Amino acid sequence: MTDMPDHDRLRKLLEDVVTDVRDAAPGLYEQAVEAAQERGKAPPRKGDFEKFGIAVYTRDGLCVAAGNAGVAFPIQSISKVFALEVALEGLGERVWKRVGREPSGDPFNSIIDLERDKGVPRNPFVNAGALVVCDMLVGLGGRPGPNRHVVKLVEGMLDGETIELNPDVMASDRTGGDLNRSLMFMAKHHGNLDHPVEKVMDAYVHQCAISLDCRGLARAGRFLMHDDAEAEDERGVAAARRARRILAIMMLCGQYDGSGDFAYRVGLPAKSGVGGGILAIAPHRASIAVYSPALDPMGNSWLGTLGLEMLTDRTDWSVFGSVRTRG
Ligand code: GLU
Repeated sequence: MTDMPDHDRLRKLLEDVVTDVRDAAPGLYEQAVEAAQERGKAPPRKGDFEKFGIAVYTRDGLCVAAGNAGVAFPIQSISKVFALEVALEGLGERVWKRVGREPSGDPFNSIIDLERDKGVPRNPFVNAGALVVCDMLVGLGGRPGPNRHVVKLVEGMLDGETIELNPDVMASDRTGGDLNRSLMFMAKHHGNLDHPVEKVMDAYVHQCAISLDCRGLARAGRFLMHDDAEAEDERGVAAARRARRILAIMMLCGQYDGSGDFAYRVGLPAKSGVGGGILAIAPHRASIAVYSPALDPMGNSWLGTLGLEMLTDRTDWSVFGSVRTRG
């Protein structure tokens, strides 16, 4: 199936993906138990392998969802995609003077690269990079408190809907954010942080706490589809170019140090978060969100990744080309 499936076909396809993911869940749970044992970690919660939701927004404005697509979760690191959009729109190429665009191969919160690269984070999706981007957003001005840039952008994508912020993430990221603070002090030491650590932290915590369900996330991600129809004027072309560049970074750096495996299996640019969500984009075709809270050792949703792998296999939406004959 290389064409865009119609509403009914897409619905059936998503329902089948949900059924097949649920069938595969007990096997993945066993794998997760083994992986946790090997790493000396607490066993995963079985109940987390019973939740899976998926929503797809197509370029013609169709939204189809299945499974637990209405369960809200904190988008966490997925917010880094929206923050990058705000920074690129506000500052253009100047962003890349302060943050790189290379995959890191280290965990999302690692400080090693930051020391080695003299305070310039490898990319905007590791925590160090996201914090430097947040510092840029603070520099764009505005009231303190909720990160008005990212929250406002996402609210705009949702046609003005008010977004809930997850109170647990707000509290735990604030109190447990010592490593994030260390990253900022390291960046500051190298002259790559302009604002007080606590002010940047506050902005970061607010963006991580944004709470959406799969439908909301897929809807908020539509701008990344960069549909040709929207690129009629210069502003549209600039927005489409930004989206294309953000997708490149998502492909290379979007799943922490599991980005290579994800590209191999799913073949779509995507960004995951420790809240269990993944936003994936099939350029010019669809904005896709999946949710399932159990995380693999890299911090990516076990079932979410599997569901996306099934979806791209069945739709042939991989950015690396179609495997079925074009009709
Ligand atoms: N709030 C989390 C942290 O900074 C986000 C991590 C993530 O989703 O990767 O630790």
